[in-house]
Amino acid sequence: MLSTNSAQAIKQSAFVTELLDDPSYGAVGSDASEQVDHICGECGGHLVAFPTKDGRTWYRCEHADLCGFSLNACSECGSGLPEERDESGLKTCACGAEYPSCPQCENGWLVERRGRYGRFLGCVSYPRCKGKMKATPQN
Ligand SMILES: [Zn+2]
Ligand SMILES: [Zn+2]
Ligand SMILES: [Zn+2]
Repeated sequence: MLSTNSAQAIKQSAFVTELLDDPSYGAVGSDASEQVDHICGECGGHLVAFPTKDGRTWYRCEHADLCGFSLNACSECGSGLPEERDESGLKTCACGAEYPSCPQCENGWLVERRGRYGRFLGCVSYPRCKGKMKATPQN
């Protein structure tokens, strides 16, 4: 399962690079973020972007009935979906925001949350995913 997922991730980033290198791609449209395929880490389907009422974006697996995985967009821009593009352990969004990848799921990233015992980094998919890390002190 893990190896399948990372193979998909590699395939996908190669695909994105190809698109970006292809000069004719620029003619398709200016909204390049819409063209990027986001793969559901739970079933391998595509994540489809849906606009929410408050103007943000919400991603849901195309297999809504079978899988039901969903994810909120990047909290910085409200529309992008951060992707891990290399082995850095960081997911980066098209807007430039970077988040630590969730250690427990394929698509999630960690955002700062407050718990009973103070600050910690928790997965955006909480409570579906319980992945978390200690918050690193920031200056
Ligand atoms: Zn799915
Ligand atoms: Zn963003
Ligand atoms: Zn997670």
